[in-house]
Amino acid sequence: MLNWDEFESKEKTTLVKPSSEASQEKEIISPPEPETTALQVTLNSNKIGSRLDKAKEAIKTFDAQIGEEALAGSASRINVDQKAMINCRADVNQLVPFKYEWAWQKYLDGSANHWMPQEVNMTADIALWKSEEGLSDDERKIIMRSLGFFSTADSLVANNLVLSVYKHLTNPECRQYLLRQSLEEAIHTHAYQYVIQSLGMDEAELFNMYREVPSVARKASWALAYTQELDNPNFKTGTVEEDKKLLRNLIAFYCVLEGIFFYCGFTQILSMGRRNKMTGTSEQFQYILRDESMHLNFGIDVINQIKLENPHLWDEEMQEQAASMILQGMQLEIEYARDTMPRGVLGMNANMMEEYLNYIGNRRLIQIGLAEEFPNAENPFPWMSEIMDLRKEKNFFETRVTEYQTGGALSWD
Ligand code: FE
Repeated sequence: MLNWDEFESKEKTTLVKPSSEASQEKEIISPPEPETTALQVTLNSNKIGSRLDKAKEAIKTFDAQIGEEALAGSASRINVDQKAMINCRADVNQLVPFKYEWAWQKYLDGSANHWMPQEVNMTADIALWKSEEGLSDDERKIIMRSLGFFSTADSLVANNLVLSVYKHLTNPECRQYLLRQSLEEAIHTHAYQYVIQSLGMDEAELFNMYREVPSVARKASWALAYTQELDNPNFKTGTVEEDKKLLRNLIAFYCVLEGIFFYCGFTQILSMGRRNKMTGTSEQFQYILRDESMHLNFGIDVINQIKLENPHLWDEEMQEQAASMILQGMQLEIEYARDTMPRGVLGMNANMMEEYLNYIGNRRLIQIGLAEEFPNAENPFPWMSEIMDLRKEKNFFETRVTEYQTGGALSWD
């Protein structure tokens, strides 16, 4: 370790003087130093003189060309044709001109839907949850499991987006939506935490269900495996194998986690709300569902756009994998339905949920261009159509956007 005197003299030797004098001084006083970066220069210069002098000195010696060099080749004014969903070399900081208007529109729609969990009145839920009567053990189990699964599921999605997906989607308007979606995932996690805290539940129990309760944990670890596929810091798209990994990750998170794993719990809680029970919690879930439907639509559009631009990735093997992933997700969700509904409750049971999941599974397969697997599946919960008619997901939101802009109020007609 250096003592203070040594430290001071060492500092003098590394002071930045962009003249030849500086390098001479260095040569005389000190042994050769490793190459000094522009940032080190700036930081070192901050150790002498007044704060203002230091700032002035740093800016004088700041070499803007270094930043420009990093952008070389990508920083010319771009045109739409240079933009691409993956492996794009065009400058990602130039938002316009838009190539994918739908992505920008979803960013605008998502922003117009902004809401916060504290806006929802939880008073009736607190009274009902704390009362001895009013909720059966089966209903309580559904509430606990739903909050247990969702409280960490949206974190899994957010972490996957920010840490694994974001850098590999090379389009600025899609990144703009990913940033919006990431905020919404944070708000959803906040909403579950807000409900859990309002109801005075055991937070550790709820937030650990994704590790401790098998029907919840199996869903979480199924999805996490696809995050881990991209987890290697050296992972880069650009080869068929790596590009397929990214595609699998998008299918796992958008089509399965947000597109299947959320549906049993959503249906159960919304059914409770329709019966005038846990209406605050149910309202939170309706806001979340509104956001989630848009996440799902965005993901489907991204997946289909990648397929369009890279048809070689969508070979027979990949199609087989994608279909298999959706069917696996459905099986896990059916397991979850059986665990959370050992008998009939709230006008539904696990067999009806299985039928519903067949219907949803068909939708997910068709949405990414695959053949449906359950030709006779019907929706056993037609009342859910009012809230999220899967055949009209897009219309549903597009026709209501102006309503949201008046204050983000929730209206299901
Ligand atoms: Fe989401």
